[in-house]
Amino acid sequence: MPLKEKEIRQMIKSARETRSKAFAHRSGHKIGASVLTESGEIYGGCNIESVISGLGSCAERTAIDHAITHGQYNVRAICTVDDGLTPMCGACLQYALLFSQMSDDEIFVVNADSKGHYTVTPLSTLLPQGYKTKSNLQEIKAYKNGKGKKKRKK
Ligand SMILES: [Zn+2]
Repeated sequence: MPLKEKEIRQMIKSARETRSKAFAHRSGHKIGASVLTESGEIYGGCNIESVISGLGSCAERTAIDHAITHGQYNVRAICTVDDGLTPMCGACLQYALLFSQMSDDEIFVVNADSKGHYTVTPLSTLLPQGYKTKSNLQEIKAYKNGKGKKKRKK
């Protein structure tokens, strides 16, 4: 189902708010993101840098992780906000692809600038040949639905 204008505006608002929380002490480049779930909830994220380069996380991945911490695995859309139109990086596109596979549905990628201009592009257009798991997709879907593996016996 395509995104509604109202949903896009709410995602941009959330991403703007979390952008101000970005922990960008190395680069000074603050990015905000948000995730819209199937249930209509929106979760914000921001980039987080570490003193050890390579250990940080992009805003888009922290937004997805934020949704996951609320038990929301069904991602409908991901929004990025920067001063200009900054595309989501390849790692985040790949990270999002598993959630698209899990729900058998397209994820929309919203790219917005600070003035409110935006684009909406399907994830499959941005990452047409991303890695898709085949071997354990059913297990992952079962896990998502609360039918995951039992705890290991000690
Ligand atoms: Zn990224």
